[in-house]
Amino acid sequence: MATLYDDFTEYFEAAAQYSELDPRLLEQVKTCNNVYQMSFPVEDDDGDIQVIEAYRAQHSHHRLPTKGGIRYSTMVDADEVKGLAALMTFKCAIVDVPFGGAKGGVCIDPFTSSPEFVERVTRRLVIELHSHNFIGAAVDVPAPDYGTGEREMAWIADTYRTLNPEDINHWSCVTGKPLSLHGIPGRREATGLGAVYGINQCLADPEAGHSLSPGLEGKRVILQGLGNVGYHAGRELSEQGARIVGIAEIDAGLYDPNGLDLEDVARHRWEHGGVAGYPAGQVFASSLETIEQPCDILVPAALEHQITIDNAERIQAKIVAEAANGPTTPDADRVLRHRGVTVIPDLYLNAGGVTVSYFEWIKNLSHVSFDRMLRRNSEMHNRRLLDTIEQQTGTRIEASMRSKLEQGPSERDIVYDALAQTMTESYDRISSLRRERELPDLRTAAYLYSLELVAQSYIELGLFP
Ligand code: NAD
Repeated sequence: MATLYDDFTEYFEAAAQYSELDPRLLEQVKTCNNVYQMSFPVEDDDGDIQVIEAYRAQHSHHRLPTKGGIRYSTMVDADEVKGLAALMTFKCAIVDVPFGGAKGGVCIDPFTSSPEFVERVTRRLVIELHSHNFIGAAVDVPAPDYGTGEREMAWIADTYRTLNPEDINHWSCVTGKPLSLHGIPGRREATGLGAVYGINQCLADPEAGHSLSPGLEGKRVILQGLGNVGYHAGRELSEQGARIVGIAEIDAGLYDPNGLDLEDVARHRWEHGGVAGYPAGQVFASSLETIEQPCDILVPAALEHQITIDNAERIQAKIVAEAANGPTTPDADRVLRHRGVTVIPDLYLNAGGVTVSYFEWIKNLSHVSFDRMLRRNSEMHNRRLLDTIEQQTGTRIEASMRSKLEQGPSERDIVYDALAQTMTESYDRISSLRRERELPDLRTAAYLYSLELVAQSYIELGLFP
């Protein structure tokens, strides 16, 4: 069976056909530079020793540090992290964040392991990465991914800090940290929120190839995966008026054409460990059956290889919005295109996470929050402007309205606006490239745009004659 790295290679080569770059340069741009495979012993909860397999792949060093999440899953292997690291390189190029791509994976089941065991594994992983110079603010900066979150990022930061007490930038060694440990507001929801900004752009694009109207109001959505990305995407989609008609989780799936209550399903899942048994909607025994149900937008937000040659003909969505990495295999992608389904590709759509991670990294390096330097100043300007309007017009602005208008931006406001701007501009870039170069779809445009940018860096750095 093809791996995620095989998928990446196929997508890359399909896009590279439209480029006039030297094939040897393209080969360098495609190749994964380093893969560090680790095995280390960790004591389990019974006092036995488990040998843990882990990987860190650094795809490209044309920009430093390298950057990418750490995934905890029993399915992790070298090819998966290589494929995910490669996607990170091109994702960073699309949203213009100055990192090379990387990804890590640890072969454990985070959902059934005890927190104590996960903590021992995480801290030991940092020691391994550190001893081989695979972590540090200027070297390689991990973030959350499937099966990891703020808790693991806090352990990573704390272990790194203990190993490097003299490094003043130790908090920048990892992003996605809790707010209390120098994280940034908005990182938790960044990937899901960024995906919704991307879906909105695609809905508003008359040349995206779908027949849907602009705006999310009334659109029927199926979510696959109710973890960090799926939950936050679902929340924002609901807030903007979309109807969540399906939710597919690892244990089962729910479908209700009248709409499901996302918060209630999430609460049920939290209390019962799954969505099975939820007392509303039709229940499907499998996640894959659920994603074939009628909807306008399908948001895969779980794992790779969910839309394959086996089910691509039965997907009823008009837009597949790839919030997960690698959910569609290349052969399924061709079927979807042939059927007129618009795919918003992963390397663009889930780039909101790395975008806000970039903001967190900058904040940690500058040791000051974004709002601190401008909030009061901005409030003073707003006050002066409102005073002038009142004087010029001879009318008084009502007190509660005035106090709202006077407010300077919070750090969260700044992050949300910068994320929205990044996702909007990046969509427009790949969509225009698609038009200008007459490319078959958004994925080819996203790959071509980013591979040419990365190649340009290799040339400018003198790394390729
Ligand atoms: P997560 O661990 O928070 O959640 C994943 C969810 O998917 C879990 O609820 C799990 O039970 C569910 N799941 C697993 N297999 C499933 C299946 N077959 N069908 C339905 N549900 C299933 O992970 P996450 O951080 O939300 O990541 C999800 C995807 O988004 C991954 O592909 C990841 O690489 C990608 N991604 C995540 C981020 C981020 O910031 N977390 C950034 C970019 C991309």
